[in-house]
Amino acid sequence: MTTNDKASGTAGDYDAIVIGAGFAGLALIHYIRELGLSVRVFDRASDIGGTWTWNRYPGAATDSESYYYCLTFSPELLQEWSWTKRYPGREETQNYMRFVADKCDMWPHIQLDTEIVEAEYLAERGCWQVTTGDGDIFTSKYFISGMGMISEPMIPKIPGMDRFKGPIFHSSRWPHEGLDYAGKKVGIIGAGATTVQMLPVVAETAGSVTVFQRTPNYVLPAMQKEMTPEWEKEIKNNYPAIVAKCRNHVFGMAFDSPVGRNVMDTPPEERQRIFEENWTGSFRWVFETFDDLLASPEANRIAGDFIAAKMRERVNDPALADLLTPSFDDYPLFAKRPPLDHGYFEAFNRDNVHLVDIRKQEPLVEITETGVRTTQADHEFDIIVLATGFKAYTGALEAFPIRGNGGQALREKWQEQSACIMGVCVAGFPNMFTVTGPQAPFANLPTSIEQNAIWISRCIGKMEREGMDIFEPREEAEREWTAATADIHGQTLMNEGDKVNSWMMGANRDDKGARVLIYFGGANLYYDALDKSAAEGFPELEFKKLSADICAVAAS
Ligand code: NAP
Repeated sequence: MTTNDKASGTAGDYDAIVIGAGFAGLALIHYIRELGLSVRVFDRASDIGGTWTWNRYPGAATDSESYYYCLTFSPELLQEWSWTKRYPGREETQNYMRFVADKCDMWPHIQLDTEIVEAEYLAERGCWQVTTGDGDIFTSKYFISGMGMISEPMIPKIPGMDRFKGPIFHSSRWPHEGLDYAGKKVGIIGAGATTVQMLPVVAETAGSVTVFQRTPNYVLPAMQKEMTPEWEKEIKNNYPAIVAKCRNHVFGMAFDSPVGRNVMDTPPEERQRIFEENWTGSFRWVFETFDDLLASPEANRIAGDFIAAKMRERVNDPALADLLTPSFDDYPLFAKRPPLDHGYFEAFNRDNVHLVDIRKQEPLVEITETGVRTTQADHEFDIIVLATGFKAYTGALEAFPIRGNGGQALREKWQEQSACIMGVCVAGFPNMFTVTGPQAPFANLPTSIEQNAIWISRCIGKMEREGMDIFEPREEAEREWTAATADIHGQTLMNEGDKVNSWMMGANRDDKGARVLIYFGGANLYYDALDKSAAEGFPELEFKKLSADICAVAAS
């Protein structure tokens, strides 16, 4: 057993163990350290960054705008860091995270190159024990997952995948040492947000790129732009207001919405003018035009048609444009998460870029030694990228055994329904927190992560102040949150996601059925619910002191 430095007198090696050195890991170090407690963050990667250390595919960048895709606990950090663009590339975001770790002296709390392969609640000691891939064991009073809600790759079961002679890998496992694809034939399976970012960059130097598309997406334009000194000054003069906007927005973004008007109450010409005027890039368009795009089917159809028309304008070949464009009859806007593009459609106008529609025209049959076989042809490649998405929300938590009361693993508990309390606690798993777990909202992630970290630290603060040893998440509270989340979900157009394999319902997974994974009642109302819970003393949790016998064992 490895013993480590301790900042306070708990029974374990640390007060809190966190898995994941991305935004969640950094936020938790800050908030838990503020309580005067010890915290250790483990990550299997060789650097901090989470998503931004793994997703090294060409073109990887944020879809949130830089200046609110960040942690907000320190006004100094917000003032000192300078973003170079509207959407930073992956390296810039990772550099920002290194800057935070440097400035806040977080590195001593972070242990990289360390995979946790098992986590177990030890009821007889009232603590958690984690085991690393090297067999080291660490214990802590609190166990926290900061593993990310879109981090566990979804590898499809396509026959023959082990046969291909060249490099074949998931997009989030793009080789860290880099990959020379200049002049090579590249096949990309999948046409989601990752491919939309990757294609234009890869197409610039690859010999050819072929995208295998099953379902077309509503793609919004990113409209990248450089940060100017004037824009940066305006942002930095307004940071408190920007942070408040994110906290009070339905998707945790610094947007000016609701706007107080609906498509269905607006005459067609005026509606068109508003759509056009706001066609300035980012998800803003969805939120800063009208308030009913995600609620009213008719408004959604009109908005989807507008986007589809814009997409078509950019593709030279009308037949190809047809294949790339969804319609409301396929699925409503936002039943799948819309990607943002930086030249995706223009890439299809190049001679070296090809689309294979595997839904309507050429179903995919297998992967061969030399490429991809469809019902119509053998497509030869040097490299195949599986841009096939992720096991969102629960995948990382199910990838290795996390055992709570009675030895039950999360992945067993979540076979039928991924039940959770506000995405942060799970009944049967005492003293465990999940950052952006199932049934949390889908929103600007740093905003949600920080709101979760604040709630977690307030809960831990109460535990420590009151000398509590254990909290047990209440079954009843879990049932209530799960039912409320399902009820809200059923009233939204996102409910259609199971028809088109949306990861937002886990409908892209081949190991589980579709389910309600996201709280769509509004991130702002969800943050309100977290604050209310903390203000009322966390009624979702039952707090306990251990008997003197157990404390004696724990302390020994
Ligand atoms: P995704 O949106 O789930 O797309 C996966 C693609 O793979 C889809 O086109 C899917 O087709 C296809 N696919 C899956 N299994 C397949 C199979 N067996 N055969 C053929 N095609 C298959 O995944 P993603 O593009 O990695 O994006 C996932 C999420 O990650 C995004 O929505 C976003 O939230 C996040 N992301 C964010 C950024 C950013 O913010 N900058 C960038 C990339 C990703 P179907 O649609 O038919 O299922």
